[in-house]
Amino acid sequence: MANALKIYNTLSRQLEPFKPINENEVRMYACGITVYDESHVGHASQAIIFDAIRNILKYLGYKVSYVRNFTDIDDKIIRKAANTGKTADEIATFYIEDSSKDLAALKVRPADHEPRVTDHVPDIIEFIRILVDKGSAYVNNHEVLFDVEKFTEYGKLSRQKLDQLVSTEDTPNKRNPWDFSLWKPAKEGEPSWESPWGPGRPGWHIECSVMAGKYLGKTLDIHGGGLDLVFPHHENEIAQSEACNGQPFSNYWIHNGLVMVDGRKMAKSLGNFYTIKDILKKFHPDIIRFTVFSNHYSSNIDFAEAIFTTSSKRVYYFYKTLNTVDQLLKTFPPDDDSNLLPEVITGIQDGFREAVLDNFNTARALANFSELFTQVNAFLSAPKPKMKQKTNTLRLFREEFKKIADVLGIFDEDPGVFIKEFKRKFLAEHNITAAEIDEKITARAGAKKNKDYETADKICEQLKERKIMLQDTPQGVEWDVILD
Ligand SMILES: [Zn+2]
Repeated sequence: MANALKIYNTLSRQLEPFKPINENEVRMYACGITVYDESHVGHASQAIIFDAIRNILKYLGYKVSYVRNFTDIDDKIIRKAANTGKTADEIATFYIEDSSKDLAALKVRPADHEPRVTDHVPDIIEFIRILVDKGSAYVNNHEVLFDVEKFTEYGKLSRQKLDQLVSTEDTPNKRNPWDFSLWKPAKEGEPSWESPWGPGRPGWHIECSVMAGKYLGKTLDIHGGGLDLVFPHHENEIAQSEACNGQPFSNYWIHNGLVMVDGRKMAKSLGNFYTIKDILKKFHPDIIRFTVFSNHYSSNIDFAEAIFTTSSKRVYYFYKTLNTVDQLLKTFPPDDDSNLLPEVITGIQDGFREAVLDNFNTARALANFSELFTQVNAFLSAPKPKMKQKTNTLRLFREEFKKIADVLGIFDEDPGVFIKEFKRKFLAEHNITAAEIDEKITARAGAKKNKDYETADKICEQLKERKIMLQDTPQGVEWDVILD
Protein backbone atom coordinates (compact mmCIF):
# COMPACT_ATOMS: atom_id res chain seq x y z
CA MET A 1 0.00 0.00 0.00
CA ALA A 2 2.81 2.37 0.93
CA ASN A 3 4.20 2.42 -2.60
CA ALA A 4 1.03 4.01 -3.93
CA LEU A 5 1.98 7.34 -2.38
CA LYS A 6 2.00 10.25 -4.81
CA ILE A 7 3.84 13.48 -4.10
CA TYR A 8 3.74 16.76 -5.97
CA ASN A 9 7.38 17.47 -6.76
CA THR A 10 8.23 21.14 -7.26
CA LEU A 11 11.27 20.07 -9.29
CA SER A 12 9.19 18.38 -12.00
CA ARG A 13 5.97 20.33 -11.35
CA GLN A 14 4.24 16.95 -11.42
CA LEU A 15 2.47 14.54 -9.16
CA GLU A 16 4.93 11.64 -9.01
CA PRO A 17 4.82 8.16 -7.48
CA PHE A 18 7.07 8.26 -4.44
CA LYS A 19 10.14 6.03 -4.59
CA PRO A 20 12.61 6.51 -1.77
CA ILE A 21 16.28 5.67 -2.37
CA ASN A 22 16.18 2.83 0.14
CA GLU A 23 12.95 0.89 0.22
CA ASN A 24 10.77 1.75 3.24
CA GLU A 25 13.15 4.44 4.43
CA VAL A 26 12.74 8.20 4.02
CA ARG A 27 15.36 10.88 4.57
CA MET A 28 13.70 14.24 4.87
CA TYR A 29 15.01 17.73 5.53
CA ALA A 30 12.96 20.87 6.07
CA CYS A 31 14.31 24.38 6.51
CA GLY A 32 13.77 25.62 10.03
CA ILE A 33 13.56 28.94 11.79
CA THR A 34 15.98 31.88 11.97
CA VAL A 35 15.98 32.48 15.70
CA TYR A 36 15.94 36.20 16.48
CA ASP A 37 12.35 36.81 17.58
CA GLU A 38 9.19 35.03 18.74
CA SER A 39 7.97 32.49 16.20
CA HIS A 40 4.88 33.49 14.23
CA VAL A 41 1.94 31.60 12.77
CA GLY A 42 3.79 31.14 9.46
CA HIS A 43 6.46 29.15 11.31
CA ALA A 44 3.69 27.26 13.09
CA SER A 45 1.95 26.29 9.90
CA GLN A 46 5.16 25.06 8.24
CA ALA A 47 6.21 23.07 11.31
CA ILE A 48 2.74 21.49 11.64
CA ILE A 49 2.70 20.53 7.94
CA PHE A 50 6.10 18.82 7.96
CA ASP A 51 5.40 17.20 11.32
CA ALA A 52 2.25 15.72 9.75
CA ILE A 53 4.07 14.65 6.58
CA ARG A 54 6.64 12.86 8.74
CA ASN A 55 3.91 11.20 10.82
CA ILE A 56 1.96 10.17 7.72
CA LEU A 57 5.09 8.62 6.18
CA LYS A 58 5.59 6.64 9.39
CA TYR A 59 1.92 5.62 9.41
CA LEU A 60 2.40 4.33 5.85
CA GLY A 61 5.19 2.11 7.13
CA TYR A 62 8.33 4.09 6.32
CA LYS A 63 11.22 4.53 8.68
CA VAL A 64 11.75 8.29 8.63
CA SER A 65 14.80 10.38 9.48
CA TYR A 66 13.73 13.98 9.70
CA VAL A 67 16.05 16.96 10.13
CA ARG A 68 14.98 20.53 10.79
CA ASN A 69 17.65 23.17 11.35
CA PHE A 70 17.95 26.33 13.38
CA THR A 71 19.63 29.28 11.67
CA ASP A 72 21.43 30.71 14.65
CA ILE A 73 23.81 33.12 12.94
CA ASP A 74 22.52 35.79 10.57
CA ASP A 75 22.28 39.58 10.12
CA LYS A 76 18.98 39.82 12.02
CA ILE A 77 20.35 37.90 15.00
CA ILE A 78 23.48 40.06 15.05
CA ARG A 79 21.38 43.24 14.85
CA LYS A 80 19.11 42.10 17.69
CA ALA A 81 22.16 41.25 19.80
CA ALA A 82 23.65 44.70 19.17
CA ASN A 83 20.33 46.39 20.07
CA THR A 84 19.86 44.46 23.29
CA GLY A 85 23.45 44.30 24.58
CA LYS A 86 23.45 40.50 24.39
CA THR A 87 25.61 38.17 22.34
CA ALA A 88 24.29 36.61 19.14
CA ASP A 89 24.62 33.23 20.84
CA GLU A 90 22.50 34.35 23.80
CA ILE A 91 19.80 35.68 21.46
CA ALA A 92 19.80 32.49 19.38
CA THR A 93 19.78 30.15 22.38
CA PHE A 94 16.91 32.07 23.97
CA TYR A 95 14.74 31.95 20.84
CA ILE A 96 15.55 28.30 20.08
CA GLU A 97 14.15 27.41 23.48
CA ASP A 98 11.25 29.81 23.05
CA SER A 99 10.23 28.49 19.62
CA SER A 100 10.68 24.87 20.73
CA LYS A 101 8.26 25.52 23.60
CA ASP A 102 5.78 27.22 21.26
CA LEU A 103 5.90 24.35 18.80
CA ALA A 104 5.55 21.77 21.58
CA ALA A 105 2.45 23.64 22.77
CA LEU A 106 1.08 23.18 19.25
CA LYS A 107 1.79 19.46 19.58
CA VAL A 108 4.51 19.57 16.92
CA ARG A 109 6.81 16.63 17.62
CA PRO A 110 10.54 17.34 17.40
CA ALA A 111 12.62 16.32 14.39
CA ASP A 112 15.18 13.53 14.80
CA HIS A 113 17.94 16.10 14.52
CA GLU A 114 17.59 19.83 15.07
CA PRO A 115 21.10 21.09 14.28
CA ARG A 116 22.35 24.62 14.81
CA VAL A 117 24.57 26.27 12.22
CA THR A 118 27.18 27.45 14.72
CA ASP A 119 27.78 23.83 15.79
CA HIS A 120 28.74 22.99 12.20
CA VAL A 121 31.16 25.71 11.13
CA PRO A 122 34.10 23.30 10.51
CA ASP A 123 31.82 21.15 8.28
CA ILE A 124 30.72 24.27 6.43
CA ILE A 125 34.33 25.42 5.89
CA GLU A 126 35.23 21.99 4.52
CA PHE A 127 32.26 22.04 2.13
CA ILE A 128 33.18 25.51 0.86
CA ARG A 129 36.83 24.45 0.44
CA ILE A 130 35.71 21.64 -1.87
CA LEU A 131 33.64 24.09 -3.92
CA VAL A 132 36.64 26.42 -4.24
CA ASP A 133 38.92 23.51 -5.20
CA LYS A 134 36.46 22.36 -7.84
CA GLY A 135 36.26 25.85 -9.31
CA SER A 136 32.58 26.24 -8.40
CA ALA A 137 33.33 29.07 -6.01
CA TYR A 138 35.85 31.93 -5.97
CA VAL A 139 37.49 34.05 -3.31
CA ASN A 140 37.48 37.82 -3.49
CA ASN A 141 38.56 40.08 -0.61
CA HIS A 142 38.26 37.29 1.96
CA GLU A 143 34.72 36.53 0.78
CA VAL A 144 33.87 33.24 -0.91
CA LEU A 145 31.15 33.39 -3.54
CA PHE A 146 29.39 30.71 -5.55
CA ASP A 147 30.02 31.06 -9.26
CA VAL A 148 26.50 30.52 -10.57
CA GLU A 149 27.56 30.40 -14.24
CA LYS A 150 29.63 27.29 -13.51
CA PHE A 151 26.53 25.35 -12.51
CA THR A 152 24.77 24.85 -15.81
CA GLU A 153 21.53 23.58 -14.27
CA TYR A 154 21.06 26.68 -12.12
CA GLY A 155 17.41 27.73 -12.17
CA LYS A 156 15.99 24.22 -12.59
CA LEU A 157 13.87 24.39 -9.42
CA SER A 158 12.51 27.91 -9.78
CA ARG A 159 12.43 27.59 -13.58
CA GLN A 160 14.33 30.77 -14.25
CA LYS A 161 17.00 31.59 -16.81
CA LEU A 162 20.17 33.36 -15.71
CA ASP A 163 19.40 36.51 -17.70
CA GLN A 164 16.04 36.88 -15.93
CA LEU A 165 17.51 36.58 -12.46
CA VAL A 166 17.54 39.43 -10.07
CA SER A 167 20.34 39.92 -7.64
CA THR A 168 19.37 38.74 -4.16
CA GLU A 169 22.47 39.75 -2.24
CA ASP A 170 24.47 42.88 -2.08
CA THR A 171 28.23 42.53 -2.01
CA PRO A 172 30.92 44.40 -3.95
CA ASN A 173 32.91 41.17 -4.28
CA LYS A 174 30.60 39.47 -6.79
CA ARG A 175 31.68 38.74 -10.34
CA ASN A 176 28.11 38.44 -11.52
CA PRO A 177 24.90 39.82 -10.01
CA TRP A 178 23.44 36.32 -9.48
CA ASP A 179 26.42 34.99 -7.51
CA PHE A 180 25.86 34.51 -3.79
CA SER A 181 27.99 34.44 -0.69
CA LEU A 182 29.18 31.21 0.91
CA TRP A 183 31.55 32.77 3.40
CA LYS A 184 31.20 36.38 4.59
CA PRO A 185 34.30 38.21 5.85
CA ALA A 186 34.10 39.34 9.47
CA LYS A 187 32.93 42.85 10.23
CA GLU A 188 34.01 44.80 13.27
CA GLY A 189 32.24 43.58 16.42
CA GLU A 190 30.46 40.64 14.76
CA PRO A 191 30.86 36.99 15.72
CA SER A 192 33.37 35.25 13.46
CA TRP A 193 35.25 32.00 12.97
CA GLU A 194 38.73 31.36 11.56
CA SER A 195 38.83 29.99 8.02
CA PRO A 196 41.33 29.53 5.14
CA TRP A 197 39.95 32.81 3.71
CA GLY A 198 40.23 34.80 6.92
CA PRO A 199 37.86 35.26 9.84
CA GLY A 200 34.21 35.32 8.91
CA ARG A 201 30.89 33.46 9.07
CA PRO A 202 28.81 31.24 6.78
CA GLY A 203 26.31 32.68 4.31
CA TRP A 204 22.69 31.60 4.71
CA HIS A 205 22.19 28.97 1.97
CA ILE A 206 25.30 26.90 2.63
CA GLU A 207 24.16 25.76 6.08
CA CYS A 208 21.27 23.65 4.78
CA SER A 209 23.41 21.93 2.14
CA VAL A 210 25.98 21.04 4.77
CA MET A 211 23.66 19.94 7.58
CA ALA A 212 21.30 18.00 5.28
CA GLY A 213 24.33 16.16 3.84
CA LYS A 214 25.86 15.52 7.22
CA TYR A 215 22.77 13.96 8.81
CA LEU A 216 21.02 12.44 5.81
CA GLY A 217 23.57 11.77 3.07
CA LYS A 218 24.39 13.35 -0.27
CA THR A 219 20.99 12.70 -1.83
CA LEU A 220 17.82 13.25 0.19
CA ASP A 221 14.47 11.69 -0.51
CA ILE A 222 12.53 14.81 0.42
CA HIS A 223 13.52 18.42 0.95
CA GLY A 224 10.84 20.75 2.19
CA GLY A 225 10.18 24.35 3.06
CA GLY A 226 7.88 27.28 2.41
CA LEU A 227 7.08 28.37 -1.14
CA ASP A 228 9.00 31.58 -0.47
CA LEU A 229 12.20 29.53 -0.18
CA VAL A 230 12.11 28.11 -3.73
CA PHE A 231 14.21 31.05 -4.90
CA PRO A 232 16.89 31.87 -4.03
CA HIS A 233 17.38 29.59 -1.00
CA HIS A 234 16.53 26.18 -2.42
CA GLU A 235 17.88 26.96 -5.86
CA ASN A 236 21.18 27.84 -4.21
CA GLU A 237 21.14 24.76 -1.99
CA ILE A 238 20.81 22.60 -5.12
CA ALA A 239 23.64 24.42 -6.88
CA GLN A 240 26.05 24.11 -3.95
CA SER A 241 25.25 20.48 -3.10
CA GLU A 242 25.22 19.19 -6.65
CA ALA A 243 28.40 21.11 -7.58
CA CYS A 244 30.09 19.66 -4.50
CA ASN A 245 28.80 16.07 -4.64
CA GLY A 246 28.10 15.50 -8.33
CA GLN A 247 24.77 13.81 -7.59
CA PRO A 248 21.18 14.99 -7.14
CA PHE A 249 20.62 16.86 -3.87
CA SER A 250 17.01 15.85 -3.32
CA ASN A 251 14.72 13.63 -5.37
CA TYR A 252 11.51 15.32 -4.19
CA TRP A 253 10.93 18.96 -3.28
CA ILE A 254 7.83 19.71 -1.24
CA HIS A 255 6.76 23.32 -0.68
CA ASN A 256 4.05 24.50 1.64
CA GLY A 257 1.87 27.53 0.91
CA LEU A 258 2.23 30.63 3.05
CA VAL A 259 0.06 32.02 5.81
CA MET A 260 -1.83 35.16 4.85
CA VAL A 261 -4.00 37.20 7.19
CA ASP A 262 -7.10 38.85 5.74
CA GLY A 263 -5.83 38.33 2.21
CA ARG A 264 -2.44 39.91 2.77
CA LYS A 265 1.02 38.72 3.53
CA MET A 266 1.62 38.91 7.26
CA ALA A 267 3.77 41.85 8.31
CA LYS A 268 4.32 43.69 11.55
CA SER A 269 3.92 46.97 9.64
CA LEU A 270 0.44 45.94 8.43
CA GLY A 271 -0.76 45.10 11.94
CA ASN A 272 -1.82 41.60 10.83
CA PHE A 273 1.08 39.80 12.43
CA TYR A 274 0.45 37.00 14.94
CA THR A 275 2.95 35.06 16.99
CA ILE A 276 2.31 31.47 18.04
CA LYS A 277 1.75 32.74 21.58
CA ASP A 278 -0.93 35.19 20.32
CA ILE A 279 -2.88 32.50 18.52
CA LEU A 280 -2.58 29.95 21.33
CA LYS A 281 -4.24 32.48 23.63
CA LYS A 282 -7.25 32.48 21.31
CA PHE A 283 -7.46 28.90 20.11
CA HIS A 284 -6.80 25.39 21.35
CA PRO A 285 -3.90 23.70 19.49
CA ASP A 286 -6.34 21.21 17.96
CA ILE A 287 -8.29 24.07 16.40
CA ILE A 288 -5.09 25.55 14.96
CA ARG A 289 -3.92 22.19 13.61
CA PHE A 290 -7.39 21.42 12.23
CA THR A 291 -7.34 24.78 10.44
CA VAL A 292 -3.94 24.06 8.88
CA PHE A 293 -5.04 20.58 7.79
CA SER A 294 -8.32 21.82 6.33
CA ASN A 295 -6.28 23.54 3.64
CA HIS A 296 -4.11 21.70 1.12
CA TYR A 297 -0.55 22.15 2.30
CA SER A 298 0.63 23.46 -1.06
CA SER A 299 -1.86 26.34 -1.16
CA ASN A 300 -1.63 29.55 0.80
CA ILE A 301 -3.92 29.69 3.79
CA ASP A 302 -5.71 32.80 4.98
CA PHE A 303 -5.77 32.94 8.78
CA ALA A 304 -8.88 35.13 8.73
CA GLU A 305 -11.35 35.03 11.63
CA ALA A 306 -13.88 33.10 9.51
CA ILE A 307 -11.67 30.06 8.98
CA PHE A 308 -11.16 29.69 12.74
CA THR A 309 -14.88 30.10 13.39
CA THR A 310 -15.51 27.18 11.04
CA SER A 311 -12.80 24.95 12.48
CA SER A 312 -13.75 25.77 16.09
CA LYS A 313 -17.25 24.60 15.31
CA ARG A 314 -16.06 21.39 13.69
CA VAL A 315 -13.53 20.54 16.41
CA TYR A 316 -16.06 21.24 19.18
CA TYR A 317 -18.64 19.05 17.45
CA PHE A 318 -16.15 16.19 17.07
CA TYR A 319 -15.09 16.41 20.70
CA LYS A 320 -18.71 16.46 21.85
CA THR A 321 -19.35 13.26 19.91
CA LEU A 322 -16.20 11.67 21.36
CA ASN A 323 -17.32 12.73 24.82
CA THR A 324 -20.75 11.15 24.35
CA VAL A 325 -19.09 7.94 23.17
CA ASP A 326 -16.63 7.91 26.08
CA GLN A 327 -19.41 8.48 28.63
CA LEU A 328 -21.44 5.66 27.13
CA LEU A 329 -18.46 3.31 27.19
CA LYS A 330 -18.07 4.07 30.88
CA THR A 331 -21.76 3.54 31.61
CA PHE A 332 -22.13 0.44 29.44
CA PRO A 333 -18.77 -1.32 29.23
CA PRO A 334 -18.84 -3.51 26.09
CA ASP A 335 -19.47 -7.15 26.92
CA ASP A 336 -19.69 -8.70 23.45
CA ASP A 337 -17.65 -8.55 20.25
CA SER A 338 -20.34 -7.25 17.92
CA ASN A 339 -19.66 -4.80 15.12
CA LEU A 340 -22.87 -3.23 13.89
CA LEU A 341 -21.13 -0.82 11.49
CA PRO A 342 -18.56 -3.05 9.78
CA GLU A 343 -18.15 -0.87 6.69
CA VAL A 344 -17.88 2.33 8.66
CA ILE A 345 -15.27 0.83 10.98
CA THR A 346 -13.03 -0.54 8.21
CA GLY A 347 -13.54 2.66 6.24
CA ILE A 348 -11.89 4.75 8.97
CA GLN A 349 -8.33 3.73 8.18
CA ASP A 350 -8.96 2.92 4.53
CA GLY A 351 -10.40 6.37 3.91
CA PHE A 352 -7.55 8.06 5.73
CA ARG A 353 -4.91 6.09 3.85
CA GLU A 354 -6.52 6.88 0.52
CA ALA A 355 -6.59 10.60 1.33
CA VAL A 356 -2.99 10.89 2.51
CA LEU A 357 -1.58 8.70 -0.30
CA ASP A 358 -2.85 11.39 -2.65
CA ASN A 359 -0.12 13.97 -1.96
CA PHE A 360 -0.86 14.17 1.79
CA ASN A 361 -4.42 15.37 1.25
CA THR A 362 -5.30 16.19 4.86
CA ALA A 363 -8.27 18.30 3.75
CA ARG A 364 -9.86 15.18 2.32
CA ALA A 365 -8.96 13.25 5.48
CA LEU A 366 -10.87 15.85 7.53
CA ALA A 367 -13.83 15.68 5.14
CA ASN A 368 -13.83 11.92 5.80
CA PHE A 369 -13.91 12.67 9.54
CA SER A 370 -17.05 14.75 9.06
CA GLU A 371 -18.77 11.96 7.22
CA LEU A 372 -17.69 9.44 9.84
CA PHE A 373 -18.97 11.56 12.72
CA THR A 374 -22.31 12.06 10.99
CA GLN A 375 -22.62 8.28 10.75
CA VAL A 376 -21.60 7.78 14.37
CA ASN A 377 -24.09 10.37 15.58
CA ALA A 378 -26.86 8.78 13.55
CA PHE A 379 -25.93 5.44 15.13
CA LEU A 380 -25.93 7.01 18.59
CA SER A 381 -29.35 8.57 18.23
CA ALA A 382 -31.03 5.63 16.47
CA PRO A 383 -33.71 4.20 18.80
CA LYS A 384 -32.59 0.67 17.99
CA PRO A 385 -30.72 -1.37 19.02
CA LYS A 386 -30.46 -0.54 22.71
CA MET A 387 -27.43 1.47 23.81
CA LYS A 388 -25.96 -1.54 25.60
CA GLN A 389 -25.81 -3.40 22.30
CA LYS A 390 -24.13 -0.52 20.53
CA THR A 391 -21.16 -0.06 22.78
CA ASN A 392 -18.72 -2.57 21.31
CA THR A 393 -19.19 -0.94 17.91
CA LEU A 394 -18.52 2.42 19.55
CA ARG A 395 -15.39 1.01 21.17
CA LEU A 396 -14.14 -0.13 17.75
CA PHE A 397 -14.86 3.31 16.32
CA ARG A 398 -12.93 4.95 19.14
CA GLU A 399 -9.93 2.64 18.68
CA GLU A 400 -9.73 3.02 14.91
CA PHE A 401 -10.25 6.77 15.08
CA LYS A 402 -7.50 7.16 17.65
CA LYS A 403 -4.98 5.59 15.27
CA ILE A 404 -5.51 8.25 12.63
CA ALA A 405 -6.10 11.13 15.02
CA ASP A 406 -2.67 10.41 16.51
CA VAL A 407 -1.06 10.75 13.08
CA LEU A 408 -2.43 14.26 12.71
CA GLY A 409 -1.97 15.10 16.37
CA ILE A 410 -5.59 16.15 16.82
CA PHE A 411 -8.54 14.78 18.84
CA ASP A 412 -6.11 13.11 21.20
CA GLU A 413 -7.15 15.11 24.29
CA ASP A 414 -9.61 14.01 26.96
CA PRO A 415 -12.88 15.19 25.34
CA GLY A 416 -14.33 16.19 28.72
CA VAL A 417 -11.35 18.41 29.45
CA PHE A 418 -11.41 19.91 25.95
CA ILE A 419 -15.11 20.80 26.23
CA LYS A 420 -14.69 22.35 29.67
CA GLU A 421 -11.80 24.48 28.49
CA PHE A 422 -13.58 25.45 25.26
CA LYS A 423 -16.63 26.59 27.21
CA ARG A 424 -14.51 28.50 29.71
CA LYS A 425 -12.85 30.45 26.88
CA PHE A 426 -16.17 31.02 25.17
CA LEU A 427 -17.79 32.44 28.32
CA ALA A 428 -14.84 34.75 28.93
CA GLU A 429 -15.04 36.05 25.36
CA HIS A 430 -18.80 36.58 25.65
CA ASN A 431 -18.70 38.24 29.05
CA ILE A 432 -20.88 35.78 30.83
CA THR A 433 -20.12 33.46 33.73
CA ALA A 434 -21.23 29.92 34.51
CA ALA A 435 -22.69 31.27 37.79
CA GLU A 436 -24.83 33.77 35.86
CA ILE A 437 -26.12 30.97 33.62
CA ASP A 438 -26.93 28.81 36.66
CA GLU A 439 -28.86 31.70 38.19
CA LYS A 440 -30.90 32.05 35.00
CA ILE A 441 -31.57 28.32 34.98
CA THR A 442 -32.84 28.52 38.56
CA ALA A 443 -34.99 31.57 37.75
CA ARG A 444 -36.43 29.77 34.73
CA ALA A 445 -37.25 26.70 36.84
CA GLY A 446 -39.00 28.97 39.36
CA ALA A 447 -41.03 30.68 36.64
CA LYS A 448 -42.03 27.34 35.16
CA LYS A 449 -43.10 26.10 38.57
CA ASN A 450 -45.38 29.14 38.84
CA LYS A 451 -46.68 28.40 35.36
CA ASP A 452 -45.20 31.71 34.21
CA TYR A 453 -44.12 30.34 30.83
CA GLU A 454 -43.73 33.79 29.36
CA THR A 455 -40.92 34.62 31.80
CA ALA A 456 -39.38 31.18 31.36
CA ASP A 457 -39.27 31.66 27.57
CA LYS A 458 -37.93 35.16 27.97
CA ILE A 459 -34.99 33.85 30.03
CA CYS A 460 -34.22 31.36 27.27
CA GLU A 461 -34.37 34.11 24.67
CA GLN A 462 -32.08 36.35 26.70
CA LEU A 463 -29.54 33.57 27.04
CA LYS A 464 -29.79 32.81 23.34
CA GLU A 465 -28.88 36.40 22.57
CA ARG A 466 -25.79 35.85 24.64
CA LYS A 467 -25.00 32.69 22.68
CA ILE A 468 -26.08 30.21 25.35
CA MET A 469 -28.75 27.60 24.78
CA LEU A 470 -30.57 25.54 27.37
CA GLN A 471 -31.42 21.91 26.86
CA ASP A 472 -33.87 19.92 28.95
CA THR A 473 -32.34 16.49 29.43
CA PRO A 474 -33.25 13.49 31.59
CA GLN A 475 -30.41 14.61 33.91
CA GLY A 476 -31.88 18.10 34.23
CA VAL A 477 -31.30 21.39 32.42
CA GLU A 478 -27.94 21.66 30.70
CA TRP A 479 -26.44 24.54 28.79
CA ASP A 480 -24.29 24.68 25.74
CA VAL A 481 -22.64 27.37 23.67
CA ILE A 482 -24.06 28.59 20.36
CA LEU A 483 -21.42 28.78 17.65
CA ASP A 484 -22.44 30.69 14.55
ZN1 LIG B 1 17.31 25.83 4.17
